Amino acid sequence: MFIADNLHRIQQDIAGTSARLVAVTKTHPVALLQEAYAAGSRLFGENRVQEMSAKQPELPADVEWHLIGHLQTNKVKYIAPFVHTIQSIDSLKLFVEIEKQAARHQRVIEGLLQFHIAAEETKTGLSLSEAEVILQSAEFRAAQHVRLTGVMGIATYTTDEGQLRQEFRELRGYFEHLKTQYFADAPFFREVSMGMSSDYRLALEEGSTLIRVGSAIFGAR
Ligand SMILES: *Cc1c(COP(=O)(O)O)cnc(C)c1O
Repeated sequence: MFIADNLHRIQQDIAGTSARLVAVTKTHPVALLQEAYAAGSRLFGENRVQEMSAKQPELPADVEWHLIGHLQTNKVKYIAPFVHTIQSIDSLKLFVEIEKQAARHQRVIEGLLQFHIAAEETKTGLSLSEAEVILQSAEFRAAQHVRLTGVMGIATYTTDEGQLRQEFRELRGYFEHLKTQYFADAPFFREVSMGMSSDYRLALEEGSTLIRVGSAIFGAR
């Protein structure tokens, strides 16, 4: 019951924006995912390949699975048959492997370029120039099985509202730049994935289109 209440509250915060909610289900048992599904959730985010692969067969087929954690190239093959969106593309090598595995399964996998926006050095992600290297590559131009639909970022773990806004604006700025330079004719390039339990309201104000919320739905991990 509490999951439905939490989802309802978050949906009210989203109302009036065009954003969508990715329910981040990592570490939680399948029963809780089923409860969220029954309450209307269709986008689920997991950060580990093994855990996502184990849960996927237990949920209905219309779930959109989003991989939100760092992905090693040698693990792409395990999720390629079903993953909807890989939000954490952070290298050309990974992009090329996703293209290869998606082609093997005759699928199109959606992807977001993950940017480094946090002050902490540990949070991974691309710089703008690194992202542009990918977008200018022959591999990107030839790809037919990965569709880049936008950008993703993880803000600093802080309560400093000014800093959070600045980081969200930075990501939004990268999105606008790439949209103009590389995706002007691509309406599907429209996602700015930012905002988690503690900061999704700010992220919505700064133009998030995908919020990734875990503990505010399912409780502490
Ligand atoms: C765990 C996780 C989230 C959700 O975090 P909460 O604080 O529980 O909402 C969002 N994004 C990423 C990349 C995560 O790993």
